[in-house]
Amino acid sequence: MYDNNNIFAKILRNEIACKKIYEDNNSLFFNDINPQAKIHVLGIPKVNRVDFSDFILNTDEKIITSFFLSVDLVIDQLSIKKTGFRIITNSGADGGQEVPHFHVHILGGEKVK
Ligand code: 5GP
Repeated sequence: MYDNNNIFAKILRNEIACKKIYEDNNSLFFNDINPQAKIHVLGIPKVNRVDFSDFILNTDEKIITSFFLSVDLVIDQLSIKKTGFRIITNSGADGGQEVPHFHVHILGGEKVK
């Protein structure tokens, strides 16, 4: 069950500020508040989905494609395509997911530990 009061839902409703990197009709990308690398960007779709499986199984294919194309566009915009990057999505308790709105972490700008 999706929790409308999670932090990323509040960011999408502009109730909490974020350092925006990129936005379009389907997705929002912003800097992580506690960066684990020189570049640490979070990408979220604008649909209310709890985690990876919820997003992939319960979302229109066009929105899924649009989201992942935006991930690639942001990687380009951050100029880390050549130097390399890591994309992570945490899911559930064992995956260490803290915020229950599906998101990807994009890490780069240095050798990611
Ligand atoms: P998760 O563990 O759910 O995959 O990652 C959640 C991420 O959200 C963490 O890396 C954490 O630093 C980040 N985060 C938590 N609260 C906020 C916030 O209010 N603003 C931003 N920009 N990032 C947040």
